[in-house]
Amino acid sequence: MEEKCPICGATSTLQFLPYKIPYFGDAMMFIAVCPSCGYRSTDVMLLSGDRGSRRKRYEVEISSVDDLNIRVVRSSFGSIEIPELGVNVEPRRGEGFITTVEGVLKRVEDAVRMLSRDVKGARKKRAEQVLMQIDDIKAGNASMKLIIDDPTGNSAIISDKAETRDGE
Ligand SMILES: [Zn+2]
Repeated sequence: MEEKCPICGATSTLQFLPYKIPYFGDAMMFIAVCPSCGYRSTDVMLLSGDRGSRRKRYEVEISSVDDLNIRVVRSSFGSIEIPELGVNVEPRRGEGFITTVEGVLKRVEDAVRMLSRDVKGARKKRAEQVLMQIDDIKAGNASMKLIIDDPTGNSAIISDKAETRDGE
C-alpha cells in the first residue's frame, strides 16, 4: 500500500507490523517513512479486546513508580489528557503509538522543553513547573491522572487499575 507524504508529497510505502500486547491481545501497527524527507507516520489499530469501533475512554491514576510501566496504546484518533499537568494532546494523523506511561511522560517532557525555548516570563515559569512536576511523578513523589479518549475505540490503557467506559 502507498501513501502520500503530508510534508513533501513524495510516495512512501505503508508497512503493516503485527504487534502482540501482553495480557491484552493483538494490534496492528502501520508505519510509513517518507524516502524523500524522512517524515515518519505511525498508527495503531486494536484487533482484539472488546473494541467495536465505538468511543472508549480510559482513566488511570498514576501514583507509584510501578505505574510508569503501564502500557498505553494511542491511535492517531486518541486524545490524551493529564489534568494535573494541564496537558492536552489532541489527536493527530500519523502519531499513533504503543508505549508505557513513562513513554507518554517523555513525549510530554520533550514537547514542553521545546516550547519553553520560545517563551518568556510566566509561560516559561509554568513550563519549568510542569517539568518539575514530571520529575516528581517519575520519582513516585506525586500522582497524576492519565485519560485517553478515542472515538474509534483503538486506544487503551492496559492495567487492572484503569477505569474504562464506552463514550457517548
Ligand atoms: Zn516527505
